[in-house]
Amino acid sequence: MNFTLTEEQEMIRQAARDFAHTELLPGVIERDETQQFPSEQVKKMGELGFMGMMVDPEYGGSGLDTLSYVLTMEELSKVDASSSVIVSVNNSLVCWGLETFGSEEQKEKYLKKLASGEIIGAFCLSEPEAGSDATSQKTTAIDKGDHYVLNGTKNWITNGSSASVYLVIAQTHIEKGYKGINALIVEKGMPGFEIGPKENKLGIRGSDTHSLIFNDVKIPKENRIGGDGFGFKFAMKTLAGGRIGIAAQALGIAAGAYELAKNYSKERRAFGTEISNHQAIAFKLADMHTQIEAARYLVYKAAWDKDQDNDYDISGAMAKLYASQVAMETTVEAVQIFGGNGFVKEYHVERMMRDAKITQIYEGTSEIQKIVISRSILKK
Ligand SMILES: Cc1cc2nc3c(=O)[nH]c(=O)nc-3n(C[C@H](O)[C@H](O)[C@H](O)COP(=O)(O)OP(=O)(O)OC[C@H]3O[C@@H](n4cnc5c(N)ncnc54)[C@H](O)[C@@H]3O)c2cc1C
Repeated sequence: MNFTLTEEQEMIRQAARDFAHTELLPGVIERDETQQFPSEQVKKMGELGFMGMMVDPEYGGSGLDTLSYVLTMEELSKVDASSSVIVSVNNSLVCWGLETFGSEEQKEKYLKKLASGEIIGAFCLSEPEAGSDATSQKTTAIDKGDHYVLNGTKNWITNGSSASVYLVIAQTHIEKGYKGINALIVEKGMPGFEIGPKENKLGIRGSDTHSLIFNDVKIPKENRIGGDGFGFKFAMKTLAGGRIGIAAQALGIAAGAYELAKNYSKERRAFGTEISNHQAIAFKLADMHTQIEAARYLVYKAAWDKDQDNDYDISGAMAKLYASQVAMETTVEAVQIFGGNGFVKEYHVERMMRDAKITQIYEGTSEIQKIVISRSILKK
């Protein structure tokens, strides 16, 4: 067993840390307040190679391993989880899905621009009546010979208005259930494709979340990913890897809040001493540190499993389940350590507490992760 990062992984982590502090930290409170998408920051992350980290350089990516990606996600999320979710969706869902299952033409036409950060993508599975139960797709893609006609509504789509390319899951053969589902590449501006208003959210308010409406949108057949009926499998395989990115996001939020709380506790004084000298506070920090370290090893192990071509369904689900719980608990305790200052915006931890909550909901709720884990352990 080797817990040492390679020199390259250390360099990438440092680059992400520097970027987070110099480029994401300034304005993070204002972007949260006004729900402003971090366009300039995303452009710079594209230039640094953060938008297609695991993609082969042949298709415009950085050609790195999953662990490097996870280290980057952790560092970005320590400072700005709104920016890191944009990175996560583009890397683990859109780019990975296209590189692994897309045709050569699709990779040439879409992946190169997505991986280099020239454009960003969105992954569109959830619907008003199909969230956890993703098999209940009501969006239809009717086969018309050389094209599909797409109709329906998608909900809660990250990068909803800022994306240029959308991977949309839709039902083609209703009688076949989930085996009749397809994944289609939809371009912004295709006639009949409308973007709904921006959601007003509790957390990750800098990321843009929208519903998408499709009214008789004509999608060429060559935009289908994989064979006919592959769409559900495509979505599940892609989300299994996506969970590792969200687990890393949760880990970063927890670690960021912990670092702020630890530093604050060594400065803030009460009853004649720094509050870190009160055992009630020191023990909170001990619990936070221990839980974050445990979450970190689950997240790194899931990334390592993916890099080794091991099955990562269960390790990814465990990493997301645990890291998101640690993110929630750590940020609540961080607010407590900051006292009244924790309740106001300028100290960051209240935003982190709001941001942490989504990690227990998207890319499979905690309850769904428990279904994945329990099914896997019981079948053995
Ligand atoms: C900010 C944000 C961004 C998002 N981004 C995207 C995106 O980019 N693309 C996308 O496709 N989706 C996205 N989503 C949607 C997200 O993935 C879903 O909200 C999530 O999967 C849960 O679905 P739901 O909201 O319909 O909840 P429901 O499925 O209605 O679940 C409600 C509650 O019931 C529980 N529950 C449901 N079924 C079971 C069961 N069998 N056993 C036990 N408990 C169960 C759930 O865990 C949850 O607690 C996003 C959501 C948000 C809020």
